[in-house]
Amino acid sequence: MNISPKIEARFYEKDGNAYLCKLCPHECRLSVGQIGRCGARRADEDMLVAYSYGKVSSLCVDPIEKKPFYHFHPGRRVFSVGGIGCNMSCKHCQNYSISQSASGKKRTTYESPEELADMFGREKVDLIAFTYNEPSIWFEYMMDVIDCVPDATYVLVTNGYINEGPLRELCKHVSAMNIDVKGFTDEFYMNVCGGHLENVLKTVKIAFSLKVHIELTYLLIPGYNDSEKEIREFVNWILNDLSKDVPVHFTRFHPDNAMNNVPWTSPESLLRAMEIATEMGLNNVYVGNIISEDGSDTYCPECGAVVIARTGYLVEIIALQGLKCKGCGHRLYMVR
Ligand code: SF4
Repeated sequence: MNISPKIEARFYEKDGNAYLCKLCPHECRLSVGQIGRCGARRADEDMLVAYSYGKVSSLCVDPIEKKPFYHFHPGRRVFSVGGIGCNMSCKHCQNYSISQSASGKKRTTYESPEELADMFGREKVDLIAFTYNEPSIWFEYMMDVIDCVPDATYVLVTNGYINEGPLRELCKHVSAMNIDVKGFTDEFYMNVCGGHLENVLKTVKIAFSLKVHIELTYLLIPGYNDSEKEIREFVNWILNDLSKDVPVHFTRFHPDNAMNNVPWTSPESLLRAMEIATEMGLNNVYVGNIISEDGSDTYCPECGAVVIARTGYLVEIIALQGLKCKGCGHRLYMVR
């Protein structure tokens, strides 16, 4: 059985007898023997260790739409890999068995970057997603995998909770990110997620400015982050700080983890959010975790034609010529 090697973490400083981790905005100060709040970094006598390095909890080949990405290589399959731990502690987390289990307790298999590269090679796909749990806390492992398979195209499904230095380095290698904007008040982020909104928005803006393809996911939780005011503020921010073309996925909450007493998001509430965002001027708004008649199709923002139709994960490219609408020639916000 392969044992995870001891790999030194990046982005930390010595602070007296302790270490200051600078990978994410929490900046944990860890004394020898302690593990960071992400469960992915451990303070040893001689170094801060990338404790979750290579510990793989989940491996699957998924449709790219499942991440979700609707404007990045639509219809393609993606080799998806996840580890353990997370630097947020969302009460509603739907992957809590891997994200919130202390590192070492969840059953994982060590896969060296070379072994992962071999598995990827056998799948005959060319996209790799780091997903399922928070990937940025796997920084060292991701970089070593990227070194092993430099020709693959990399995508991240992330909470966006990472400091600027490591983010900029990551963005040199990652082509697309689906970033969760979990709510649009700092109070929600602090009380429900264990983080701060501003840090997430900063990540989105930096990644977007570095030409990483961005899609945003907003999980609507009844009574917590679904007020019209909050949705309008979120959309305004996208319009002002990003672009009206950035795809937004409003997704359905189901009771889980520490929020078992909160009801499912109603279909009306999802459609209302979509309507508000579309009326305010966003071009690519979707609803997710629910089958809807037209909430997952892509329309040409210029002529209104359906260019991609989706039923669940079935994707039909209807009217795209390269990146343009076949009908009117408008260039879409799309990577293929
Ligand atoms: S990456 Fe982990 S150890 Fe480092 S600051 Fe963030 S939560 Fe703390």
